Amino acid sequence: MLPPSPAPLFSPQYSIVIPLYNEEAILPLLYPRLQAVLAQLAGPSEVIFVNDGSRDRTLALVRQLREQDPRICYLSLARNFGHQIAVTAGLQYARGQAVIVMDADLQDPPELIPAMVAQWQAGFEVVYARRTQRRQEDWFKRLMAYGFYRLLRQLADVEIPADTGDFCLMDRRVVQVLNAMPERGRYLRGLRAWVGFRQTSIPFQRDPRAAGSVKYTFRKSLALAIDGLVSFSRLPLRLATYLGLLSALVALIMAILVFYWRWFVPNSPLTGFAAIAIAVFFLGAVQLVSIGILGEYVGRIYDEVKGRPLYTLAEVAGFEGEAR
Ligand code: UDP
Ligand code: MG
Repeated sequence: MLPPSPAPLFSPQYSIVIPLYNEEAILPLLYPRLQAVLAQLAGPSEVIFVNDGSRDRTLALVRQLREQDPRICYLSLARNFGHQIAVTAGLQYARGQAVIVMDADLQDPPELIPAMVAQWQAGFEVVYARRTQRRQEDWFKRLMAYGFYRLLRQLADVEIPADTGDFCLMDRRVVQVLNAMPERGRYLRGLRAWVGFRQTSIPFQRDPRAAGSVKYTFRKSLALAIDGLVSFSRLPLRLATYLGLLSALVALIMAILVFYWRWFVPNSPLTGFAAIAIAVFFLGAVQLVSIGILGEYVGRIYDEVKGRPLYTLAEVAGFEGEAR
């Protein structure tokens, strides 16, 4: 007798992964817009909310939504692990043939999804949204973003397109590669570029946040930027070498000058203490900067070597019967 066949696993066409960190004000605005977009998509879809350790009523609201709409599944992380890890968790659970990642705050308009799907159906494995305009974000943030993306392009080993965030559609094959990557330093927009395949972009205007406050503080943004640079470039390490060589050269020139003044110039302009102090400070600075750069890399090696799981889950709903 044949063994009973297992119940067929749910395999939606589309998965939409949305990280949430204290987004109680957003959910009531997000859901209707999402619903309207889902209705336009042919084939079954799932929405995966990833609650990233919210301290407000986000999780309660998500549970409520799931009761109304079985397409909604959720993961709840045991604490705040950060945006990139929350998205990573969502990607690991997504079952769709095409997986869309978007922010909750409606800065990434869900209405763009059908256009992304059209490109996917035309044969692209990655369709990312490229912002042409950031409305109502302050000039400081715009300037930092502008400078950073261009610096990253110069330094990175892979070509990471400028002005793109995490808003994108990825084919199942790309998601599988991402899920198989064990690394902890998850700069997703870089990893996405690294994977390759056929990629294309769709321009869009980035709206202001629909409600609630920005969850990416300046510190978090800076940490993400350094993560991006260090994960995708070894040039900063070489910079330390160059700085060292440069200061060696300066020291050599100074030695020659001192020798010359001492023996060939009467009443030499050597200012003694000041010259020594400047040299000491200069060398000290070069060494500290170099150690700092080294530390960024060593710290990451340490993190990777510990091999801790990327996140811990407190609650999961909507993935019953899945073997994981
Ligand atoms: N987010 C998260 N964990 C965090 C910070 C942010 O899951 O620690 C989520 C947040 O809920 C939102 C998205 O990441 O869905 C982007 O956050 P935000 O809009 O504050 O950042 P920005 O628009 O400045 O990139
Ligand atoms: Mg935002």
